Amino acid sequence: MAQIQFTNSLTRKKEVFEPLDPTHIRLYACGPTVYDYAHLGNARMAVIFDLLRNVLETRYEKVTYVSNITDIDDKIMTRAKETGKDISDITKLYTAIYNEDMAALGNRAPTIQPHATDHVAEMIAQIEQLIDAGHAYESDGHVLFHVPSFPKYGGLSGRSRDEQIAGARVEVASYKKDAADFVLWKPSSEDEPGWPSPWGRGRPGWHIECSVMSEKHLGLPFDIHGGGADLKFPHHENEIAQSCCAHGNEGDLSAFAKTWIHNGFLTVEGEKMSKSLGNFTLIRDVLDEGVDGIVIRLALLSASYKKPLDWSKELISRMEKMLKRIYTVILDTAEIGTIDLSETHKNDVLAALYNDLNTPQAFADIHRLLSDLERGDVSSEDKEVLRSELLLLCDTLGLKPENAENYLNKADASTLDKALVQKLITERDAAKQNKDYARADALRDELKDMGIALKDGPEGTTWERL
Ligand SMILES: [Zn+2]
Repeated sequence: MAQIQFTNSLTRKKEVFEPLDPTHIRLYACGPTVYDYAHLGNARMAVIFDLLRNVLETRYEKVTYVSNITDIDDKIMTRAKETGKDISDITKLYTAIYNEDMAALGNRAPTIQPHATDHVAEMIAQIEQLIDAGHAYESDGHVLFHVPSFPKYGGLSGRSRDEQIAGARVEVASYKKDAADFVLWKPSSEDEPGWPSPWGRGRPGWHIECSVMSEKHLGLPFDIHGGGADLKFPHHENEIAQSCCAHGNEGDLSAFAKTWIHNGFLTVEGEKMSKSLGNFTLIRDVLDEGVDGIVIRLALLSASYKKPLDWSKELISRMEKMLKRIYTVILDTAEIGTIDLSETHKNDVLAALYNDLNTPQAFADIHRLLSDLERGDVSSEDKEVLRSELLLLCDTLGLKPENAENYLNKADASTLDKALVQKLITERDAAKQNKDYARADALRDELKDMGIALKDGPEGTTWERL
């Protein structure tokens, strides 16, 4: 059987994927902090992990994909103060918006989307385990993970201690035993959200939520943990520290997640797209400009997931052309039909994706299939096979071939000359005023040929597509 390979950030090697349990593959990816619209950098991670899930599902029957919602965070609290809204109203609104945006990009909802605030009791329990094991301590209402208690700390990112302290931008706080120690629990003031705990009323730090929710919904260890490259340090490093040390697995970093997959940054003119740099584009804004979500998906998959991807209008327009061509060929060959491909044949079609999600190679394969399907000298029997291959690749990439007709109709509508439609309607109104009904009817027919239906009402004439 063809092997599936991924680059494991933990071992820094491309490895053959060996499931912990072939009857149930388990994935976790860090989800959004819900206080604002998500930008395209956030979307890249979600699209890549949705693809990863699709690829694994071509081989394994059961794949559970967990991706969390961070609904308690200082950024959310700041947003609530700025807007005068309730925290729960903000988190509900932006969770719904995030999920709508993800669906527009062709992502399926994760199998489980746990919310941090539903898991505070489990977080308190894990913090207690870490204190009991000598890896965490209480200080001044805070509970901190003591980094020097875990000599393998830094194994994922490969950062030295000095780089860790500089990179984490940790303030030297009086309640810390060591500058690298990170917060598991912190106190909440009266006007801040908080939960009762053995250390007083407070709230969890960000890192502990992923350790707790992944373990609860997937069990330990699980197969693949993912996220953007910017999460590798400190977030993922801290997740490993918590999850390994809470269970006496200090010697084995893979006792939490066996494979770590990190995607590269989205860049704009070579610079990382980020909120802090202010060079970000919201998913919602691109959709509102009329760009189809699947075009955005194609753009986000156009480079290898491991590499940076530069976002530009030119990229979008290339992907619009590519999607139009894919959908046109799918519709034009509809009467040719498909056949069931053998397992070996499917493996060949998916070889690029099985090879560390090599999407540029998969795109090249699609272009080759399109060219062959567009040729006049290829037999129907051969085209039936080519069409089946194309559909398998498109399905796995999440390109929704079933939407071909809708998309092309919409694309037609957007290229419709609206000024011409309005001009003909005005001419028809004038003809009616002059009682030239033959001319008015002729104009109505002309518009009908363009796919336009007219509606005469008290406010004048309006139009819609047939
Ligand atoms: Zn996380």
